[in-house]
Amino acid sequence: MQAAGAVFRLLQGKRGLSRAVRSYGGEATSDAGAGDTSATRSSRRSVDVSPPCPFSRDEVLAWLKEDDDWKLSFLWEEADRVRREHVGDEVHLRGLIELSSYCRRDCLYCGIRASRKIERYRMTEEEVMECVRTAQKLEYGTVVLQSGEDLGLTSDFITRVVRRIKTETPLAVTLSLGERSLDEMKEWRMAGADRYLLKHETSDPELFRRIHPEDRAFPVQSRGKTGTVPSQGPVRLPGTVPALPEGSSNPRVELLMRLRELGYEIGSGVMVGIPGQSYESLADDIMLFRELDLEMIGCGPFVPHPETPLGRQAGESMGTVHNGTVPGFADGRSQVPATDTMTTKVVALTRLVCPDANIPSTTALATVNREHGRELGLERGANVWMPNLTPLKYRILYEIYPGKAKVIDTAEEFHQNLLATLAHIGRVPGKGPGGRKRVIQ
Ligand code: SF4
Repeated sequence: MQAAGAVFRLLQGKRGLSRAVRSYGGEATSDAGAGDTSATRSSRRSVDVSPPCPFSRDEVLAWLKEDDDWKLSFLWEEADRVRREHVGDEVHLRGLIELSSYCRRDCLYCGIRASRKIERYRMTEEEVMECVRTAQKLEYGTVVLQSGEDLGLTSDFITRVVRRIKTETPLAVTLSLGERSLDEMKEWRMAGADRYLLKHETSDPELFRRIHPEDRAFPVQSRGKTGTVPSQGPVRLPGTVPALPEGSSNPRVELLMRLRELGYEIGSGVMVGIPGQSYESLADDIMLFRELDLEMIGCGPFVPHPETPLGRQAGESMGTVHNGTVPGFADGRSQVPATDTMTTKVVALTRLVCPDANIPSTTALATVNREHGRELGLERGANVWMPNLTPLKYRILYEIYPGKAKVIDTAEEFHQNLLATLAHIGRVPGKGPGGRKRVIQ
């Protein structure tokens, strides 16, 4: 293992980048903050004296472009070593509960986008609490309440559910409900919510705008109504999502900062291989993870639903990417492929840049590589698994993309497979809420 680390450092040195990883090895480093921008430094809390970023953006970029299997094997080993050293062998289990498949957004790749006429549902409070009790029974440390951006999930409903979870169980609560008002986010925090996940998806404002082009809203059908109802298609309502103005940056990054101020642990992430995503843009994303000082970072391959604009485009052109032929852009940059290897490169580099973050091995990764995707993620830097606890009758309706890995297993069946997988790769289920443990407090 030590030899692998030495070769990794040598490979870094060959790039003229010998400072990489030294800070994790405990050696003094003189070029402090080489990978940090002034925004990084100002966004850090005053008590945070984390070591300087061990990689520059160019170093990250070079690794993203690396395709020599022998060299990559050292990246995998180094990411695994840093994972073990900083967050240990525990894999934290976060029970995922998909509360509602309504969404007022119309993202170009998503199977539950507002304009799709599909059957939709909202879970009742009791159905949610039933899933929470399953999480407790299976000894998970956290439940993740996720949904489309559904204003029909009222602030009061979420507050009530969070309060019940926090008073009736020892579980941590992560919310992943999209862009909601600051007042709502504050109320949920006061009710006891611990964390908020909001993927910024890409730090490239132009690309972000391209995949979220519409100002649409799904009808907020009888607020608070639950169960399944047929879609009536998109309509414009008060509270619609404003289109992102030309030249503006990603609004979710700003929102993440506000969430941090409210006291949440914050999580974000990206999709790897969005059509139009360059290696340079992806390197920026990884540096942004560090800049935002995130507690949780999710990186999954881009998997569009085939019945969406980007899904149809993928059928026509992105097939070439999946087959290894990478198209170039007019300016000479290249398209990032949405493959398992590319995704695990991002996971590994994220671990090296953000050593104490909680990083899931995602369902999307397990979907593009059904046999080994989950394990690959865990062996290349990830330390979190989010088993799906949504009742099966709803899970099949929450089809952001089809063919999600293990979508047909019950929570209990899935848990048995999960334990076997962890044992197979020498890891153990995490105990307790599994919040971020900072390198230096
Ligand atoms: S990706 Fe999220 S916000 Fe976008 S349409 Fe799908 S559920 Fe809604």
